[in-house]
Amino acid sequence: MFTIRTQRSVRCYRCQAPFAASARAIVLTCPHCYQRVHIEDVIVRGNHHANSVETCGKILVAPRGWLMAGVIIAAEGIEVLGRLHAKYVQSGPVFLGAGASWRGSLLAPSIVIEPGATVEDGLFDIGPQHDASAILKIAEPAQRAGVASTQKRKTAVA
Ligand SMILES: [Zn+2]
Repeated sequence: MFTIRTQRSVRCYRCQAPFAASARAIVLTCPHCYQRVHIEDVIVRGNHHANSVETCGKILVAPRGWLMAGVIIAAEGIEVLGRLHAKYVQSGPVFLGAGASWRGSLLAPSIVIEPGATVEDGLFDIGPQHDASAILKIAEPAQRAGVASTQKRKTAVA
């Protein structure tokens, strides 16, 4: 017999607070910051365009999947076997499998890039310091803009 999970623990990508959610819930109001957050895992099998994809769970881009988005947030991590093209990504641990194609700046605690994966473009900021507290940064568009202006400054100095 298998057991049906009725609860899962998730972490709000808006305010960082952990909370328990129904395993079948898709969108919930965070009990801490009262913002609506998506908690389901996202699996991309075809072409998916969106301004933003945000979840407390994980994102999996299947081998023939192509995820294109401005901003991607996945608190529990991202696994890419197909293509992921974004402007800005913030997530838990990232895995790029052989054959994966990545484009976009990334803030994450860790990344694994298998031989055969392609990174076409992006400014990577990887480290354990992004494990928890960094998720907060994405909550404010102004701070996203801050990331962009830092990039510009670096270019200007160079
Ligand atoms: Zn919250």
